[in-house]
Amino acid sequence: MTALPLVFDAPRRGKPPRHLADLTREEARAVVADLGQPAFRADQLARHFFRGVTDPAQMTDVPAAVRETLSEALLPGLLTPVRTLSADGGRTRKTLWRLHDGALVESVLMRYPDRATVCISSQAGCGMACPFCATGQNGLTRNLSAAEIIGQAVAASAAMANGEVPGGPGRLSNVVFMGMGEPLANYPRVRATLRALLGQAPYGLGLSQRSVTVSTVGLVPGIRKLTEEGMAVTLAVSLHAPDDELRDTLVPINTRWKVAEVVEAADDYAARTGRRYSVEYALIRDVNDQPERADLLGRLLAGKLAHVNLIPLNPTPGSPWDASPLPAQREFVARLRAAGVPTTVRDTRGQDIDGACGQLAAADLGDDAGVPAVATPAPVLEAPVPLGAEADA
Ligand code: SAH
Repeated sequence: MTALPLVFDAPRRGKPPRHLADLTREEARAVVADLGQPAFRADQLARHFFRGVTDPAQMTDVPAAVRETLSEALLPGLLTPVRTLSADGGRTRKTLWRLHDGALVESVLMRYPDRATVCISSQAGCGMACPFCATGQNGLTRNLSAAEIIGQAVAASAAMANGEVPGGPGRLSNVVFMGMGEPLANYPRVRATLRALLGQAPYGLGLSQRSVTVSTVGLVPGIRKLTEEGMAVTLAVSLHAPDDELRDTLVPINTRWKVAEVVEAADDYAARTGRRYSVEYALIRDVNDQPERADLLGRLLAGKLAHVNLIPLNPTPGSPWDASPLPAQREFVARLRAAGVPTTVRDTRGQDIDGACGQLAAADLGDDAGVPAVATPAPVLEAPVPLGAEADA
């Protein structure tokens, strides 16, 4: 079992350079005006940014003489792609990004027949120390700025629009905060990111509230703040155990906010927004997958505006734990459904490129300036991918 401390306050590091996506529209317009340009150029830059245009030469609605100056002032490149790994015939793509200070984060774009979802990181590393999660094992490097978080979604949106993902040009439809980090531990930047994801062009990606999911380990004050925002995004709570005794060990933050408090905060969120919340539950063999625990979880959630999303554990390096076998998964699902709780099993997309839930471990590579700029082979997991399509639901 881990002895890692919980870390709430991210280490202070040099701030990323100023970026339009960290500013309000008024602030961006003021920067442009200070450079002697009409304020509406800020809107032009915003449109380019959200469309994923990074090369000033392509900003043809901006006079050539000022393109460089304006884009340097407001659109510095914050995310440098280090490598992209693909799986599922290119429909799952994990990108490793280097930030201005060498910190590394990952995002994963997954295209399905009916939607395209990007899983983004809100922190470099994570301070929540969940022992089954690769990110949690490497600790917290720092919070990301809003522009650094938004940039991951913009890159995915542009990849879809530009036809870089097999299946022809398409639209990014969903964003989930299920990459590295605890979004509610970086609250102000995540709130700014949500505004940009939901905002209309030129200052946003125009996504719908229900297609954006904030996943939290259960920071109750953060859930309560989010409840007050009036943005009815989907809330996912990483529960992983229905009882405090076990959850204290699997999700160390439980020592501060107990199961009952987390569920109550999620219930209040659902009552306020009218939106069903998701309960995330990684099924770990012989740890939290017993029939009694399914019944306990069923009793905890019966009648609530909640949905359980079971995730067969994705193995992480050095962990003794394994996914629950299929019969145990099926029994767990059956018991929850019998209790009247809507339940699905998440697929294991990206497992073979270490891109599945809990496998993002970019921080492991540290701030090594020598990280190769070209694709390196994906680390191969020793265990065969055990569940795959069978676990789809
Ligand atoms: N900090 C946020 C986002 C983390 S990742 C949170 O805790 O919700 C998104 C989901 O992946 C969480 O539910 C997390 O608990 C889960 N997860 C982490 N490691 C996993 C693993 N090894 N296998 C399956 N799911 C995992």
